[in-house]
Amino acid sequence: QQPQAAMAYDEYGRPFIIVREQGRKTRTHGLEAIKSHILAARTVSNIVRTSLGPRGLDKILISPDGEITVTNDGATILGQMEVEHQIAKLLVQLSRSQDDEIGDGTTGVVVLAGALLEQSEELLDRGIHPMRIADGFERACAVAVQELDRIADEVEFSVENTENLLKTAMTSLGSKIVSKDHRHFAQMAVDAVMAVADLQRKDVPFDMIKVTGKLGGSLADTTLVKGVVIDKDMSHPQMPRSVRDAKIAILTCPFEPPRPKTKHKLDISSVEEYRKLQAYERSKFEDMIKRVKDAGANLVICQWGFDDEANSLLMANDLPAVRWVGGPEIELIAIATQGRIVPRFEDLSAEKLGKAGIVREISFGTTRDKMIVIEECANSKAVTILVRGSNKMIVDEAKRALHDAICVVRNLVVNNRVVYGGGAAEISCSLAVSKAADEIPSIEQYAMRAFASALDAIPLALAENSGLSPIETLAEVKSRQVMEGNSKLGIDCNGRGENDMKKQFVYDPLISKRQQYLLATQMVRAILKIDDVITAGTMDE
Ligand code: ADP
Repeated sequence: QQPQAAMAYDEYGRPFIIVREQGRKTRTHGLEAIKSHILAARTVSNIVRTSLGPRGLDKILISPDGEITVTNDGATILGQMEVEHQIAKLLVQLSRSQDDEIGDGTTGVVVLAGALLEQSEELLDRGIHPMRIADGFERACAVAVQELDRIADEVEFSVENTENLLKTAMTSLGSKIVSKDHRHFAQMAVDAVMAVADLQRKDVPFDMIKVTGKLGGSLADTTLVKGVVIDKDMSHPQMPRSVRDAKIAILTCPFEPPRPKTKHKLDISSVEEYRKLQAYERSKFEDMIKRVKDAGANLVICQWGFDDEANSLLMANDLPAVRWVGGPEIELIAIATQGRIVPRFEDLSAEKLGKAGIVREISFGTTRDKMIVIEECANSKAVTILVRGSNKMIVDEAKRALHDAICVVRNLVVNNRVVYGGGAAEISCSLAVSKAADEIPSIEQYAMRAFASALDAIPLALAENSGLSPIETLAEVKSRQVMEGNSKLGIDCNGRGENDMKKQFVYDPLISKRQQYLLATQMVRAILKIDDVITAGTMDE
């Protein structure tokens, strides 16, 4: 399509716009319109298809300003693609709604929608009316969702035994950039969720889990902190690296010996006087330290810096301190530790101190970077996962992977019903839908069979992406499901020699699968119903 408008410059360099064919209207109609939509949507779905599953390939996305993202997360790929076509945009939204509501299964939903559209095309060619197809899909979807319910299993877990949650998180991370460290990452995802979860009410306040990144180190250095993290270190290298049962004085006043102000004249005429002044300064500062210690503090967090002398005095007086802590962080610390911000030494008292189980300085592997973490805070259950990685690209993708894993665990905590992955659920549903189709006397039975074939697209894609022969593999697993009556059999993507997905710990949350089917069907129905597109020839569309 020609651009509707072009920018040009006149001889004085002033820009002006040339508008071509303004007001032209275009119209596509009927089957032709539907087919062109299907084509557009399938193009999008084919792009993410190769990213599905544990062996899915990554994509490199390059934004207009040259920023690079490497990912195999469907929602991210689609979100960053500049999609112009209206219908293709619907697919992007589809994966986004799956992401918003469930946070997982974003690639699968698009692949399924693409497969459904491919099937509809064949049905249209056979002369079946789009509305009949749409109705058939809806019936089939209802059957599939019912079947999901039937084959769903419960994942047992408790506060003491999170092994199943862990295994599930590992499955989710297995296909991501962090796969080398996936046990470590999975453990963090589980710990983060369990730290904030209310198991009684099955509630997981998601905003209490913060995932932040810091460049440097390697992925293996990523840590979960049950509390607040600040990008600072202890002010003196010989101060203790950690403080147990921390009582924190949170100061916004300078913490150093009073300095003679330059605008006052100071007469020092002898060594004697100088010594006196020095002694006075020192005693003043020791007084400050005493006030802090008398209040019961064993750690100082200060918004200001202290000079070397003050620093070594603090050290000598056994009072560890952190300096130059920014205002917002000071507030965060005060809230989390239930302390008060103290602006003057006179105001210090025991009940104003912040309390935390442990404050420690952490360093990362071989790098010299240090950070202070404040854990077991009096007030907050909040946790922070600090993602480390050697470059921004890795840190970002690891953050996304963690987000997914956290979602998976959260979903299980909220609702512990699962179906088996690796296409196992799709194969079972495909079988159930085919069977139901045979009992339908009307034309919808074709659409239902087509729906069953579309479900097969998931195991087919998984097999293909794992380098297996898709049709052969699917045929074998499908017949085994029927013969053995075992709905846990799926595609053995990682070549473990085991098709039982329960044994491989490949679960998908039931709500996620159900949502995938419902959303994909809903969207395909919508596309089938649009048979007239009138593009107004205005400039901004
Ligand atoms: P999504 O963005 O849809 O979650 P993924 O790339 O994470 O996409 O792939 C999810 C699909 O891969 C699901 O169908 C899941 O059952 C399947 N899957 C994940 N791990 C495995 C595994 N180890 N073996 C077989 N299938 C797997």
